[in-house]
Amino acid sequence: MVEKHIRSIFLEYPEVIYGFTDIAYSAYAGAYQSALVYAVPYGELLTIETYTEEKFEKGIQDAKKVVEKIGAQLIQVLDEYHVKYDIPPVAQSNEADLEAPFSFKFAAVNAGLGWIGKNDVIITEKYGPRVRLSAILINEQFEYGNKILMSNCPENCKKCVEVCPYHALHGVQWNIDAFRSEIIDYRLCNEKRSIYLKTHGRKNACGLCMAVCPFGT
Ligand code: SF4
Ligand code: SF4
Repeated sequence: MVEKHIRSIFLEYPEVIYGFTDIAYSAYAGAYQSALVYAVPYGELLTIETYTEEKFEKGIQDAKKVVEKIGAQLIQVLDEYHVKYDIPPVAQSNEADLEAPFSFKFAAVNAGLGWIGKNDVIITEKYGPRVRLSAILINEQFEYGNKILMSNCPENCKKCVEVCPYHALHGVQWNIDAFRSEIIDYRLCNEKRSIYLKTHGRKNACGLCMAVCPFGT
């Protein structure tokens, strides 16, 4: 059975958090029944005290290698069972609204991996926001995780909001119906991160609002 086989892959990666969700809410619903979402912790779990751009970038790249390794194993199993699947692109294809065609973050919330913090990223209980998300659309039913509907950020925590040098975060508590624009000025954040891209040759240099989060430290 394909679900059992997929779950056995994750036994090899006890540090990785994963879950399944139905994707009836998504534009892909007609073609695929479910998504498998997994969150790989960054190589080094930085705090604001240990944070540097270089270490943050390395942590992401280390996690990316694990993401790719797991992805290859999943594909092998899905091919073996002749199950239809697709790996949606991680980055936005639409520069107008800066949204990816399939949101890993929203799938992660629906699969029960975490909630969206006041920094507009997924927050897991175990690692906070220090995870790299990946997802595979699969045309099969699974035992689904429990959808998370509300933020678990403490009401009075504003650490991420206050650390942002550009004041891109609005300090708004997320719930499942919240719009991204209520939480973050994503154009401003993206623009500032793009400046890093030009000057340092990489995109994810700014991770201040993640490094400061008390969850996972
Ligand atoms: S990534 Fe940087 S610029 Fe964007 S919201 Fe977080 S702290 Fe602000
Ligand atoms: S720093 Fe505080 S408010 Fe921001 S995401 Fe983490 S727990 Fe939530």
